[in-house]
Amino acid sequence: MIDCDVLIVGGGPSGCAAAMSLLREGFDVALMTRRPAHRLWAGESLPPGTGELINSIFGEAILDAPHHVKAYGTRSCWGSDDWVETDFLANPLGHGWILDRSVFDHDLRQEVLAAGGRLIQDQSIRSLRRHLLSWDVTTTSRAKIRCRWIVDATGRSGSVLRRLGIKRTALDRQTAFIGVLEGQNGTYQGTSIEAVSEGWWYSTPLPHGKTVVALITDRGLVKASGPKEALWRSKLEATIHIKPSLQSYQKDLIAGWYPAETSYRSHLFGLGWAAAGDAAIAFDPLSSQGISTAILMGARLGKALADGLHEQDHASLDAWQRDYYLLLHEHEALRAYYWHAESRWPEYPFWKSRRPL
Ligand SMILES: Cc1cc2nc3c(=O)[nH]c(=O)nc-3n(C[C@H](O)[C@H](O)[C@H](O)COP(=O)(O)OP(=O)(O)OC[C@H]3O[C@@H](n4cnc5c(N)ncnc54)[C@H](O)[C@@H]3O)c2cc1C
Repeated sequence: MIDCDVLIVGGGPSGCAAAMSLLREGFDVALMTRRPAHRLWAGESLPPGTGELINSIFGEAILDAPHHVKAYGTRSCWGSDDWVETDFLANPLGHGWILDRSVFDHDLRQEVLAAGGRLIQDQSIRSLRRHLLSWDVTTTSRAKIRCRWIVDATGRSGSVLRRLGIKRTALDRQTAFIGVLEGQNGTYQGTSIEAVSEGWWYSTPLPHGKTVVALITDRGLVKASGPKEALWRSKLEATIHIKPSLQSYQKDLIAGWYPAETSYRSHLFGLGWAAAGDAAIAFDPLSSQGISTAILMGARLGKALADGLHEQDHASLDAWQRDYYLLLHEHEALRAYYWHAESRWPEYPFWKSRRPL
């Protein structure tokens, strides 16, 4: 039997950050991680300024790993047919990063271990039972855990919250049609974004010589029939800039659909439970801030939970929850600003449904 103060389920950025904060406050933390299901890389990048946040929670070695590459800008074709480039060289916060996600997440978990956290690896929850002041958890390999609090950091699946019946509200029907190609064009070290009538595309060179190219659209708008790769290629034809920039390496392609809705939960914490990162609030991939927000949200949850455990009240958790609903509100205003800036296809369903009332 493992006895701990807090069990965190999900060893991604939000779960690891929550663990680090709680460990710093002297709590006994177990982090349950599951071997990630096979998935295509989303090509996640971090904007300038994120380094300081990550260093302050996990230490400086994380982003120094040679697997991550520096990003020097973004360019977008949004609202007109031309590229508009934002060069990070002019940014006082410096460059951004394109992450090797498996290395990044692995390194975060190693920092949790080094800080005194317990890793429960390659497992997930089999059953969960609430007592007056604690939870009894059985894992898929039938190990027993007793904890005072449980944190859901399982990403968009929110698998603990689903068990607890905590409602999720999706603000859109977005889905990502991701393709991963062999090779890179080598000329642009950053993310390229291009709006099309059915949504918008992005392409990002991955650290290992591959490139992620994805269409963000709404579920049901693209008729998903036949082989995914052929459909992906046919949809790419609609781009003015992204397809030509890929001409030389379009041979090896794997493609798949992934959820990309903006969503939130009716509560971010309750009796003996809390949620962090995408499990709590999942932001639009257009913001490129899911990882930094998940890390800060997890770290702040850890601190609020520690305050609550010390002082036996929920004031810090209430304030934390309020801040994140406010952030969601601001995120909605920012999305509306970007949608308003793209007016080329007002009658197409993707853009029509996003027009301000
Ligand atoms: C198409 C797309 C592009 C994106 N691009 C960017 C970008 O450029 N920059 C950016 O910052 N963000 C981006 N994001 C968002 C970013 O990926 C997420 O916001 C971020 O990964 C959230 O971190 P998390 O820790 O909350 O969840 P996750 O990273 O999803 O981690 C959850 C962890 O929990 C584990 N897990 C799941 N279920 C269980 C279970 N039952 N038991 C145990 N473990 C479990 C998973 O294996 C995983 O390790 C993008 C998202 C999408 C969809």
